[in-house]
Amino acid sequence: RSVRQSVAEHRVLRLRIRDLDGRIVYADDGTTSGVDDNSTKAARGAVVTEITRLDADAFAERKVARPGPRVVEVYEPLVSAGHRVGVLELYLPYAPIAADIAQGQRMLAIVLGCGLLALWLCLIGISASTSRRLRRQVAINAFLAEHDPLTNMPNRSQFAHRAAAAIADATADRPTAVAVIDLDRFKIVNDTLGHRNGDQLLVTLAERLGSRLRDGDTVARLGGDEFGVVLPFVHGPGEAVEVLTRLRQVVAEPLDIDGLPLAVEASIGFALAPDDGTDVDTLLQRADVAMYVAKRDHLGTVHYRADHDQYDAGALRLVAELGAAIECNELLLHYQPKADLHSESVTALEALVRWNHPERGLLYPDAFLPAAEQTELVEPLTRWVMRQAFRDLHELDPQGTLAMAVNVSARSVTRPEFVEDVLRVLEETGTAPERVILEITETALVADPARAAQTLSLLHDAGVRISIDDFGAGQTSLGYLAALPITELKIDKTFVLSMVDDERNAAIVRSVIELGHSLGFTVTAEGVETTQILDRLSDACCDTVQGYLLARPTTAVRLPAAISDVARMLRHGARPLPD
Ligand code: C2E
Ligand code: CA
Ligand code: CA
Repeated sequence: RSVRQSVAEHRVLRLRIRDLDGRIVYADDGTTSGVDDNSTKAARGAVVTEITRLDADAFAERKVARPGPRVVEVYEPLVSAGHRVGVLELYLPYAPIAADIAQGQRMLAIVLGCGLLALWLCLIGISASTSRRLRRQVAINAFLAEHDPLTNMPNRSQFAHRAAAAIADATADRPTAVAVIDLDRFKIVNDTLGHRNGDQLLVTLAERLGSRLRDGDTVARLGGDEFGVVLPFVHGPGEAVEVLTRLRQVVAEPLDIDGLPLAVEASIGFALAPDDGTDVDTLLQRADVAMYVAKRDHLGTVHYRADHDQYDAGALRLVAELGAAIECNELLLHYQPKADLHSESVTALEALVRWNHPERGLLYPDAFLPAAEQTELVEPLTRWVMRQAFRDLHELDPQGTLAMAVNVSARSVTRPEFVEDVLRVLEETGTAPERVILEITETALVADPARAAQTLSLLHDAGVRISIDDFGAGQTSLGYLAALPITELKIDKTFVLSMVDDERNAAIVRSVIELGHSLGFTVTAEGVETTQILDRLSDACCDTVQGYLLARPTTAVRLPAAISDVARMLRHGARPLPD
């Protein structure tokens, strides 16, 4: 009954019970025959299951036309009181299992789908955030490539781009101004307040400059304490000066660095496109030149003019550093002996200035003096040279037989305070005026003869000796020469150097010697490089000689050896020692 009910409810499709030999003992459908392998296995204790079709065997033997529905066939030992008594052969409908599997698969598909969707959403999210981060990094890199990291201002390359764009469309009526702003004495601020405060100062000034620009104008940091400005399409130089002067005032507004009130000044130079140049490099270089003129003459803002170019930017840049260099003791002196041909001994030393530049190495006067002589800086330079030279003189020659020659630039000779400067240094260093020779170039005298004569007379009265340097190269009127309180003529080395090869120059040398002697001066020849020159000068009765043959300019430390070499050479006509 129970089997029939199960079959009626389709929970069981067929049920058979077999004895241990496989014979059917009971079958719900009344089957009586048919031994099965599986039943034998079950009779031995195994549970055998198989998915098959109902009546599969009958179909195979063509006893039925069609196979029945899919079923699970189960053979299971029947156990009673611990003994196998037979085999249960059971056919269960496969449809609910199939439905279950289908349902499971559907669930799996849904879960898998949702999972994949979630994964996809995650990946989208990750990739979006990564690419956002990458884009941000790219933007930062692009910004850094075009901006100065300290001030966030456009840098030199961005400046060049913007300037080039503004220059391209500039016309003579609506020119574009390219300007350079350089802070005055920033190095000193930096050195005394420290680099961190120096940086802070630059950041503050950059913010100020940036906030006071007109639309379309550009301000950039070109490097160090130098800023560049592009003012596109101004209405001429007047407007450029006006805008730049305002920027200069902006810089000069007091600021507070580390609790310290500070005022910074700036010098500005500018050039206009297209009149002063049509490419960024030229305009920048000219703005730079104008800026140095502004700095030198304390003019604030200067428009470039062609005649500014005589101060080439490199030398002007050096001059801007020279003030600090004098204070930081970066200058040094080399000395070159002046030898007397009559006594065959060194009688004086000439001090020649050099600059031990921290970046450029040892600089000779041509590199920085011509530009420095255009500025007031040459005054402290001359004072430094005199002080140092006289101190060294006392160390080198305590007996006081040698004189010290110092070169004085034209600018000093026409300055009334110069006499006081010299006398003060003499007093400070305890130097007798008679031991001092001031070498003044001929050209210095021509510039302002009356003023020069006055200064020289005062110095001469104080006992200082005056030498006219580079004589023959300028155009001193001979009559005027006689009126000056001169002790020495120094023949320009170009004549001396060529006197062996060029008879006319030899004649000039001989004439200058005679002229000097007639006026009561000592005559010195500089540029004595060979023994032939020395012999000729000696024949012409020249008094004093100086040149590489005898000694090259050298440091105070090496001087005593050089001096004795010179004396030995003059006495014995010995060959000079290689330098
Ligand atoms: P200077 O006064 O005519 O000095 C002579 C220059 O000729 C020096 O060059 C010296 O090194 C070089 N010289 C010496 N013997 C020979 C030689 O046998 N052959 C050749 N070819 N040259 C020789 P330096 O030191 O380069 O100085 C150049 C100029 O710079 C000086 O010319 C002087 O006018 C100026 N100078 C040097 N020191 C000072 C200074 O302290 N103050 C000022 N105001 N000017 C200075
Ligand atoms: Ca000289
Ligand atoms: Ca000379």
